[in-house]
Amino acid sequence: MNHPCIRCGAPAARTVKALEVRTLHVRSLSGEKRVQALGNELERGVCERCARESLDLSLNPFRAIRKQLAVFGAVFAAGLLLMASAFLFIEGNRVFVLLGIAAMICGLLGTIDAVRNAKEKERSLRALPESEALEEVAWDVFTAEAPKKEGDNDLTYIPVSEKTLKRKNGDLMVLYRLLPEIAKQAWNRLHEPIPVPVDTEKEENNDPPYRDVQNQG
Ligand SMILES: [Zn+2]
Repeated sequence: MNHPCIRCGAPAARTVKALEVRTLHVRSLSGEKRVQALGNELERGVCERCARESLDLSLNPFRAIRKQLAVFGAVFAAGLLLMASAFLFIEGNRVFVLLGIAAMICGLLGTIDAVRNAKEKERSLRALPESEALEEVAWDVFTAEAPKKEGDNDLTYIPVSEKTLKRKNGDLMVLYRLLPEIAKQAWNRLHEPIPVPVDTEKEENNDPPYRDVQNQG
């Protein structure tokens, strides 16, 4: 069955399969604890146009992260402003100077990290044949559009693909931030044999002749 595109609703040629992970953050006196469970298996469509747009964007790393760059730039600028004001108006008040420095460092590290990730993504996509690169970015379209929350639970997704099937449960744990027990369950779920549908009609047809034989006796 063909699903409409998760982003624009157009008929989609590509189907993305995902296993849902529900995570609840429980705060207690001993700190924060994560409670995790596997959810449904989903199938969603991504159309060719949305996949290509996403690929073009990922191949232009600075355009892809311009929103993040604006945020980190603003944090850096706020830090600079805070420091300048501290020196100009409150005689270098130490608290404000430290806050200013902290904000500048945050902005700077955030920028470096965002640029590094975007460049890495670009490099990995360029190394792939186009059809595989489109598969990859279709997943990005899916994760960008899929629900992130259900009640108090955070929702994340594991791709159900050939690539994921080859991974060990330790890799699943690290890649998708799973608890060890859930990583094991996810691995088992992904490797479950597909159930063969039972043909109930045939079984019913086998019944009557047997009864007839009994009646004759
Ligand atoms: Zn679309």
